[in-house]
Amino acid sequence: MADTAARPRLRDSVIVQADGGTLLFLCLADRTVKRFACDDFVKDVVALLDGTRTLAEIGALTFGDDPDAPARVAEVVQILADERLLSRSAAPEREFRLLGAARAEFYDRQLRLFQDFCDEGWSPETSGAGLQRRLDGSTAVVCGIGGLGGWVALSLAGAGVGRIRLCDFDRVEASNLTRQVLFRIADVGAPKVDVAAARLREVNPYIEVESVDRRIGGAADLADVVAGADVVVNAADLPTPNDVSDWVSEACRPKIPHIMGTGYAYHIGVLGTSIIPGQTACWACVRAETFADHGRDGMETVVGKREKAGAMGALCGLVGNILAWEAIRILGGLPPALGGRWCEVDFWPLEIRSRAIPRRPGCLTCGS
Ligand SMILES: [Zn+2]
Repeated sequence: MADTAARPRLRDSVIVQADGGTLLFLCLADRTVKRFACDDFVKDVVALLDGTRTLAEIGALTFGDDPDAPARVAEVVQILADERLLSRSAAPEREFRLLGAARAEFYDRQLRLFQDFCDEGWSPETSGAGLQRRLDGSTAVVCGIGGLGGWVALSLAGAGVGRIRLCDFDRVEASNLTRQVLFRIADVGAPKVDVAAARLREVNPYIEVESVDRRIGGAADLADVVAGADVVVNAADLPTPNDVSDWVSEACRPKIPHIMGTGYAYHIGVLGTSIIPGQTACWACVRAETFADHGRDGMETVVGKREKAGAMGALCGLVGNILAWEAIRILGGLPPALGGRWCEVDFWPLEIRSRAIPRRPGCLTCGS
């Protein structure tokens, strides 16, 4: 039964409408509608669920001094709680302000989204401010600040990931500017990591950004880059996507979650997979699963992949932001969407193809 000392509050994403003896709860967060038969008493109770009153106070307002009022109110509140129509925070804005007035204003709309994640039960936190603190206390590494990594880093910075470490060796080129969101024409010739770090600090003054200007030639080159990371996003593709993925994966084992196998070319975006040590297939299992596609493993290459594939900012921005969304979920303690899944987006019909990536039973890294 509902806690009588609590001050229940409807979720901010819920609209309530009445149609005679029916109450409709329109849930904007997932576009579902819940219907309940009701009487005027229930309607009056629902209208009072704004987090400022206890059950006894709501009972007194709706039922006067009827001794059964608190129990009847508690019954209604329990049903709404079971249907996840109530917030887990009676006064979220008061909790947002505990972050400090400036941060509360900066992150305002995101905090309201995070509050809804908490209300849905996706987070161990009860307050959106708690989720924001998790991001603030976390470290993300982005390897490769190009067409994908730039968008990933930009969205992680905007979201308030407390420490972002960027790794790249490249210099900005004019041909980057159609899709690499952090760079301007005046930046051509400058080290990508330095320009990117400066831009991210302009976007969010509440985070730290570190840059590592380095060409990666093996896992050992990444040891200090991934040290202390809570998530690593591999958006690098040189010298080859597979080589750099192998090195990132090796550097991240056995503890650091890493988002791997991502990319874009022509009108296909590869969302890759999230590798959560101890929970999902490892990179070797991903490679074993996907390299056998079309029976082509072990074949001789006659005409190889072209060095430069067609690409545009609108499409790689979509892929990069899905990866940022995945990284934010991992950092916030929310369930990841790409764990144990390999996903590709075909932007022409706008369809996502998804397949499960199993852990190979005999795998020395992730097998049971
Ligand atoms: Zn494995």
